[in-house]
This record gives sequence, C-alpha cells and structure tokens, in this order.
Amino acid sequence: MANWDVIVIGLGGAGSAAAYHLAARGCRVLGLDQHQRIHTFGSSHGKTRIIRQAYFEHPSYVPLLRRGYELWNELEQAADDHLFHRTGLVEWGPKDGVVIPGVLRSAAEHGLAIEELSVAEVARRWPGLAVPESHSLGQWQAVIEKDAGYLRVEACVEAHLRLAEQASATLQHERPVRHWRATPHGVEVATDDGVEHAERLVIAGGPWSGQLLSGLGIRLSVLRKYQYWYAPQQTGYDQRDGFPCFFHETPAGYFYGFPSIGRDGLKVARHSGGTPVEIPTSPHPTDGADQSLIEDYLKAFLPGVGDHLQAQSGCYYTMTPDEHFIVDVHPDQPRVAIVAGLSGHGFKFTSVLGEIACQLALDGGTTLDTSLLRIERLRRA
Ligand SMILES: Cc1cc2nc3c(=O)[nH]c(=O)nc-3n(C[C@H](O)[C@H](O)[C@H](O)COP(=O)(O)OP(=O)(O)OC[C@H]3O[C@@H](n4cnc5c(N)ncnc54)[C@H](O)[C@@H]3O)c2cc1C
Repeated sequence: MANWDVIVIGLGGAGSAAAYHLAARGCRVLGLDQHQRIHTFGSSHGKTRIIRQAYFEHPSYVPLLRRGYELWNELEQAADDHLFHRTGLVEWGPKDGVVIPGVLRSAAEHGLAIEELSVAEVARRWPGLAVPESHSLGQWQAVIEKDAGYLRVEACVEAHLRLAEQASATLQHERPVRHWRATPHGVEVATDDGVEHAERLVIAGGPWSGQLLSGLGIRLSVLRKYQYWYAPQQTGYDQRDGFPCFFHETPAGYFYGFPSIGRDGLKVARHSGGTPVEIPTSPHPTDGADQSLIEDYLKAFLPGVGDHLQAQSGCYYTMTPDEHFIVDVHPDQPRVAIVAGLSGHGFKFTSVLGEIACQLALDGGTTLDTSLLRIERLRRA
C-alpha cells in the first residue's frame, strides 16, 4: 500500500515547482533531496537567472514561456515576494549568427514585442556598453526585449518549497535517493532510512539525473560552469540606472550578464564552453582560463566594469545531445515523469515545468505542446 501519491526526487528548480503543483492539486507528496534546503551544489544558485520570451533556441519554447510568465506572476502573488525583475534584455550578435536570427524568428512567429536596433544605437543608449569598431559595420545587430529580465533564483526555489509545504507536501532534505524501481502497483524509492512507496514518481535530479535515469539509454553530459561578480569601477551599470541584462554572441563565444545589483556587483558568465565532469562534486576548483576570457570580454564590451572580482561560484549545466530539455513520461514506466537535461537554459521555465511534471505524473499527458522535448527523439538519435 503506497503511503504517498507522488514522490518527487530532487527539490531544486524543477522539483520544487513540481512538488508545489502536485500538492496544490491535493496529492500526498513526499519530496526528497540529497542536500540541504537551497544549496550551492547543483544548478539553481547564484542569485540571478535571465528570463526572456523571444527564444533564439527554438520558437516551440515560446508558448511554454508564456505560461511560465503567468505562473511566475501567480507565484509572486502567492509568495508575496518580488521574484521577477523586468530590467529588459539586450541581445546582440552577427546578423547571420545564431542569436539574432533565432530571436527574430521566435518574435515573428509568436508576435512578441521586440525592438531592433544597431549596436551603435545600443552603445548610445547605454554608454557602459562599448562597441568595437568591427561591430559597427552593418553585419552586427541588436535586439531589445523589454518584457525580459531576471529571476531571483534561490528565492524562486524557496517560494515553491514554502508553498508546497503550505499545501501539505512533506519535504525532506539531506535524504539521498539510492535507487528507485517500478512495481506492479506503484514505485519504490530506496533511501538510507528505508524504502518509500508511492503511486507515482517525478524525477528532477538536475546534474545527477544521469544516475537516476541510467536505464534510459540517453547520455546526459555535465559541464562545470562559472559565474563572476565584479564591482563596476565606473557608473552606469546599476539596475537603478536602467542598465539591462545582456546576452552577446561574439567570435569568442556566448557571454551574458546582469546589471549591478546592490552590493552584489555585476554578474557575468560564459554560456559557451565549460568543463565536462563525470560526477558532480563540490567544491569547484577555480578556472583561470575561463576567468581570463570573461575579463577579455569585459574589457572589450563593458570596459567601465574593470577587473575587481568580488565573488565567483561554480555551477552545473546538464546537457542533452541536442540541448533541448527532456520533459516526458518515462517510456517504459508510465507512472514516472521526468524533467531533466535542462541544458543550461532551464531555470526560467521551472514554474511551467513544475505544472507540466504534475500533469505528466497524474494525467499521463500535458495540456501544453512539449513535442520538442520528448524522450523518443534522443533514443532514435
Ligand atoms: C552558471 C549557470 C547560469 C545559468 N543561467 C541561466 C539563466 O540565466 N537562465 C535560465 O533560464 N537558466 C540558466 N541556467 C540553467 C538553470 O539554472 C538550470 O537549467 C536549472 O536551474 C536546473 O534545475 P534542475 O531542477 O534541473 O536542477 P537542480 O536545481 O540542480 O536540482 C536538482 C536537485 O536534485 C537533487 N538530487 C539529485 N539527485 C538526487 C538523489 N539521488 N536523491 C535526492 N536528491 C537528488 C539535487 O540535490 C538538487 O537539489 C544556468 C545554470 C548555471 C549553472
């Protein structure tokens, strides 16, 4: 006899949201996490995450983001916390690159409000952004998405956890799951303190998903990434001065960042690159080569920031082979829903992924179109 309706393995970005939606639907929910509440060992820490809708990665994500925006709004109301800061986002890169054509395609297909402008105009609007000579030549372009900005990542996870508990979910941290299996009547989840039984299971293990899904036949590769906070040496980079979030396709790769926020400073990171790791462990060693690339980037494009590093933090991307998420029912176990392989761009979706995971676990399907994210595409590949 199952003592839980649903067990959620992993209470990070996606799992906290799944636990919340399941509990809100009246399920008896047990959430399990191997680490303490809000930790720095996985993928959902470091103060901020960019959120945007004109999605260069694929237009199919836009309807999910539209629902995600509604859910972030509802979460802010329910949690009484300002989670989503609409600073706007400047994206720039080559006209024939990946980012600009992708943004324009998603915006056109879904009627999203964006502003197109030259990179020289961007630099006039925000003097803290410099444009190297080569960028003014007409082959570079910028796009501004006003209804974009950042989420306070830990506060979002905490809001989902707290509201899940208020809806009667039982959340247990520092209780690792050793393995799970389906039985004829449900699922069994084994921990060091005994076996838990449930009708259904949600797996949201972030960078540890490969171990939890070893039978799936899909390779998830984990990359160690870094985020850096600098104390700007000149004015004009502060959120209060209207400095936006930014995402930049350059010949040296993708870089992104946030305005300077209070005493935290300006956060900047590299979206491309990263060091493959077999098993996610902490603490993260420092990476001088990565930091040099960041400081070269700042020197070229945000020269007034300088190189006064205040803090840095390691974090993991969990990559699928095509860099699209895995959001599906387990192909061999219909009682098991999976949210994994968020490939370094998943946090902004976690509100809607929680709702989808809940529907997949309870209803066996979802009201949103997740065909791009089905497991089958990767098993065929
Ligand atoms: C540096 C960096 C910057 C990023 N920037 C952005 C951004 O700007 N915008 C954006 O949208 N996305 C961004 N991302 C990606 C985004 O943060 C991740 O896709 C998202 O946070 C992943 O959430 P998750 O729930 O899959 O993983 P996590 O939040 O890591 O949660 C997984 C949880 O599962 C638990 N767990 C795993 N195995 C077990 C087990 N066996 N037993 C019990 N518990 C277990 C872990 O302890 C962990 O708490 C960034 C990621 C990084 C690293």
